[in-house]
Amino acid sequence: MNRKRKIIEFAKSLHLLGKARITDTGPEMLGQRIMIVPRELFTEFIDLYREDPEMEQTMYRTMKKSVYSFCADLDDDRDLEPAELLNTLLKLTKLNGFGHIEINDYDREMKEAVFYVRNLPSDELDDTEPFKGDTYWSGMLAGGMSYVFQQDVECLETQCMLEGENSCKFLVAPKTTLRQRHPQLFREKFPAETRNDARTPSPDTLVIGE
Ligand SMILES: [Zn+2]
Repeated sequence: MNRKRKIIEFAKSLHLLGKARITDTGPEMLGQRIMIVPRELFTEFIDLYREDPEMEQTMYRTMKKSVYSFCADLDDDRDLEPAELLNTLLKLTKLNGFGHIEINDYDREMKEAVFYVRNLPSDELDDTEPFKGDTYWSGMLAGGMSYVFQQDVECLETQCMLEGENSCKFLVAPKTTLRQRHPQLFREKFPAETRNDARTPSPDTLVIGE
């Protein structure tokens, strides 16, 4: 993408800043408080859970729940169509400095989508063991897309810049689809699910519409 086009794209997402206001508690955008956090926070997350699959899952679940309720708040305030909500989430991702995000193979019927993200904070962890490390980000996508699809979906990072790829790739889909397509990765990233009987819903399943 050339420079001019990049600026136009970014300017389009900046219109969201027009929805910003200052309140007694600080700046808000779209009715949500804005916080600026260092990128290092996210690389610290990865270091925290790199050797600890349970911690990794906790991080994933926490991110999923929090982004889901963020979407519910946005929707309460603004009553967005699913496509508008998705568009807003993509713009917020860029504005937040999480990097460049692209969506592919969006399938509303099958509740599936593929996301490519470049320059997540993990790209600063250069001398590290190869690892599909952006699990906190998978959680964010799972939460956002569960709201967009109005069905509980999960997310797997299927390639990562920490493995030398030029972007991180995430597949969002219902749990059964992920288990079928990436059995080994699914076992690694969802150890508790693998122990569970496939027919028993996990206690972490989001109850949509609450
Ligand atoms: Zn990654």
